[in-house]
Amino acid sequence: MKGTVLYGPRDVRFEERPDPTIIEPTDAIISLPFTCVCGSDLWPYRGIEPINQPRPMGHEYCGIVEEVGSAVKSIKPGQFVVGSFATSDNTCPHCQFGYQASCVQREFMVGAQAPYLRVPLADGTLVALPEMPDDDLIPSLLATSDVLGTGWFAADAANVKPGSTVAVVGDGAVGLLGALSAKQMGAERIIVMSRHEPRQKLALEFGATDIVTERGDEGVARIKELTDGIGADSVIEAVGTQEAMMQSIRATRPGGHVGFVGVTHGVELPGLELFFSHVHLHGGPAPVRRYLPKLIDLVLNGAINPGKVFDLTLPLKQVAEGYRAMDERRAIKTLLRP
Ligand SMILES: [Zn+2]
Repeated sequence: MKGTVLYGPRDVRFEERPDPTIIEPTDAIISLPFTCVCGSDLWPYRGIEPINQPRPMGHEYCGIVEEVGSAVKSIKPGQFVVGSFATSDNTCPHCQFGYQASCVQREFMVGAQAPYLRVPLADGTLVALPEMPDDDLIPSLLATSDVLGTGWFAADAANVKPGSTVAVVGDGAVGLLGALSAKQMGAERIIVMSRHEPRQKLALEFGATDIVTERGDEGVARIKELTDGIGADSVIEAVGTQEAMMQSIRATRPGGHVGFVGVTHGVELPGLELFFSHVHLHGGPAPVRRYLPKLIDLVLNGAINPGKVFDLTLPLKQVAEGYRAMDERRAIKTLLRP
């Protein structure tokens, strides 16, 4: 098969790769009707996260089970499944506590920007749908695999409750779906920070009530102004930079919560400011597996349409253009068709 490999900054190649095979008896092989590019793929693409050898790319996936290893019990060939970017046995103590992205057997998925994928720990990682979904639901199911699961975790970690005032820092797919998640959780006010019109429009469609175009200290001041000088109850940080993290902490009211899910790059927290902020901080790689059954249900019953974050569809062989479009912010998120 052909798959996507990143060789270095802005060097994405679609090239011949070995067909995935069962290596461990707990593996499954799935075929992918669609795949996609993640905002987090842009860190190594931009060279901000250095890579020292060619890396097979792609960690968001859903598809049809083709083959399972001899120890796989619940997942069967022919099922349509969704999994997380982090594999999990779903039985260890961390999994039992709902932190499957910290599973003792965790591996981070790679190689999903391809037609076929090997998924380790199939029974614990994959969630099977009761039947084959309609084709038009597949982009939304694919979104549950990472960007929605991550946005949902961010809102949950930020303690969003019915009636909450929520601010979202970051207008990528995760931030936008954080707004959607906050809406589902009953937030009354959802302030999204964005300067890009297509993203503002989608944020409003997903449930945002206010858009703030200022950033940094001015952005914080604007959120304070919108909240009678108090700050937001819950802030979703979906970028991962120092500026975004500090903006999130400073926009949160004393006693409020920040859910941070942007993969942090060079973030350093000032202890004394944190001490006096009275802010709860919780985040990290989202335990998407915890939320998958619920998110899949919401998609299947038509309550949400997170697949709207895909505003560019390309054939998989044009994956390099898919990265470019996201890097240049011409696309929110690229969907790829094998
Ligand atoms: Zn586990």
